[in-house]
Amino acid sequence: MNGREHIKIDAGNYQRGKLKGRKPTSAQLCKHRDGNYYIHIQIKDSAPTPIKSNNVIGVDFGRRDIAVTSNGDKWDGKQINDVRDKFSRVRASLQKKATKGTRSTRRRARQILKRLSGKERRFQQWLNHNISKSIIQSALKNHAVVAIEDLTGIRERTLQLPRSKTERRRSNSWSFYQLRSFLEYKGIQFGVEVIAVPPAWTSQTCHQCLHIGLRSDKRFKCINEACSWSGDADFNGSKNIAAIGVNLVNSPRGSNCLCCVLSVDSSGLLKAHTVPDRGSVWVVYF
Ligand SMILES: [Zn+2]
Repeated sequence: MNGREHIKIDAGNYQRGKLKGRKPTSAQLCKHRDGNYYIHIQIKDSAPTPIKSNNVIGVDFGRRDIAVTSNGDKWDGKQINDVRDKFSRVRASLQKKATKGTRSTRRRARQILKRLSGKERRFQQWLNHNISKSIIQSALKNHAVVAIEDLTGIRERTLQLPRSKTERRRSNSWSFYQLRSFLEYKGIQFGVEVIAVPPAWTSQTCHQCLHIGLRSDKRFKCINEACSWSGDADFNGSKNIAAIGVNLVNSPRGSNCLCCVLSVDSSGLLKAHTVPDRGSVWVVYF
């Protein structure tokens, strides 16, 4: 390009609407592979001050389900797992073709593989957008803070039990990190605080009586006879996450008194305690 050129912007109504009345201060002009030029325009928005609240929605990222909230909302993994399994079957057969077939078959297989990975990624992204959007909207409606597990725990937790090859692929490839980052940025955008809580014991503890219970896949069963709550394991987890979240929003910043040691109560069962001088602190002690 020589000197300065005037180029007419070919923007749709949506883009024009977004730009109306705004004064963008930066933009990048990019030449894409298709040969066209695209302009990326940045618009600054000031984020609303996050709502302060003692009401906490806990979100558990599950083994089977993608997410379960302490309000009882649930996104089951069936649909996504079906789609992913289908993609993975197709991919396996294509990969075979991409290494063994004739030259043109190999090239064709590589092309389809590439297209497939884009499709799968977009589907996952679309689902993560929807999940994070409805969690943040529900938090707005209920004036609540959203508590999620610190995701470094996910691998440890899902690695505890021996799993089939299919299940390993699912839990390692599902993008919890994307879901978390979507939750965080939508939280900032709409003024909903998103906090991460330590994941220790959230899936093993009974949310009703704080005793350690039995978890088998989708079910949680409290072994304390006086309580004997049983139900959806991820829902139980989300209740515990919410309880830790309540403690976190009530404690002054920096004095995080959570720890994860356990005690044995009079009946010999492991128990997570509430400590009287710290209010309703969700702490577990020896
Ligand atoms: Zn219980």
